[in-house]
Amino acid sequence: MEVLPDFEILCPNSAEEAAQMASKKGESRYMAGGTDFMPNMRRGLEKPKAVIDLSGIGEMQSIEKTGNGLRIGASVTLQQLISADEIKSDFSLLAEAAETIAGTTHRQTATVGGNVCLDTRCQFYNQSEWWRKSNDYCLKYEGEICHVAPTGKICRAAFSGDLAPALMVHGAKVELTSAKGTRTIDLKDLYQEDGADYLLLEPGELLVAVLVEKLEGYKTAYRKVRVRGGVDFPLVGIAAAVKGNGTQLEDLRVGLTGTNSKPVSLEGTADLCGGSFDETGFKALEKLVQKQIQPMRSTFSPSHYRRKVALNVSRRLVGNLLEN
Ligand SMILES: Cc1cc2nc3c(=O)[nH]c(=O)nc-3n(C[C@H](O)[C@H](O)[C@H](O)COP(=O)(O)OP(=O)(O)OC[C@H]3O[C@@H](n4cnc5c(N)ncnc54)[C@H](O)[C@@H]3O)c2cc1C
Ligand code: SF4
Repeated sequence: MEVLPDFEILCPNSAEEAAQMASKKGESRYMAGGTDFMPNMRRGLEKPKAVIDLSGIGEMQSIEKTGNGLRIGASVTLQQLISADEIKSDFSLLAEAAETIAGTTHRQTATVGGNVCLDTRCQFYNQSEWWRKSNDYCLKYEGEICHVAPTGKICRAAFSGDLAPALMVHGAKVELTSAKGTRTIDLKDLYQEDGADYLLLEPGELLVAVLVEKLEGYKTAYRKVRVRGGVDFPLVGIAAAVKGNGTQLEDLRVGLTGTNSKPVSLEGTADLCGGSFDETGFKALEKLVQKQIQPMRSTFSPSHYRRKVALNVSRRLVGNLLEN
């Protein structure tokens, strides 16, 4: 671990103040629970001049009911999310995904916003300074080439946040604020397929809240495959919501994480719905997953293994939800 560089800590009291601070201070970074950001600082991956600590912003710490859903403040901790009555009743998928994130103590401070904005991960990046230096660094940080895809021009590090696919299944939107004003966009439009530049945020833009809608009449579940069952990032994480029974499928929503540089909101599932769902349907589902995921050599587990796991787990997950 590196010695931490010198930096200034700024403590705003409102989201607007935080965004103003970020616009005035050039090289600043937001910190929520710090459970990912601090290890990255210690590894020399983050060297901001100023750290904007979001923990004092009360308006970002609550869960509120909206017309047909919830507004979840970005600074709500994962433990708060898991224990909230509103979540238990109609959004158990979010709690199910949150419960798989890191360890019990991390979840006391780790936040929803930090998880949604989580940096992408790679076996060549999440390493100490001397390790990265001995490899001549890489495209994502101070280097010239990507060790995962040496002929490529972009970083292929994997987005590995567990909440995003579950939020996407709930039709999530995100409220963002910057010195220029506020905007609300679909969560899936927050991301792009570039591991070094995976968030489509304006400079200094802050995630203030996530908006989710109820899923009436759906059965939901989250499945995560990881090397260490106790505490580990997903090799593949899959969230699904199914409306239907037995072999009849009315509607299907699927989100995936750990396979691409952004969380994947599976497209084309509507074509599989509206009738009976048999082996042909499962094969078509596998095809959609196969086409839209791009696991790379960014983890110690081989990419073809992660691909197989994604296909099998999505088939099993949707099958189980239909049956029960
Ligand atoms: C041992 C260990 C195991 C872990 N396992 C998992 C796991 O299985 N699954 C998983 O998903 N994560 C895992 N994590 C990562 C991390 O703990 C979680 O993702 C956590 O939810 C991050 O939230 P945080 O509040 O601590 O974010 P921080 O570390 O504070 O921030 C993370 C990133 O988000 C940015 N950010 C934070 N809040 C905002 C905001 N409101 N607006 C804009 N940008 C923001 C920060 O600048 C930073 O880049 C693990 C971490 C550790 C140490
Ligand atoms: S995918 Fe390539 S550029 Fe990105 S972190 Fe890994 S080695 Fe570096």
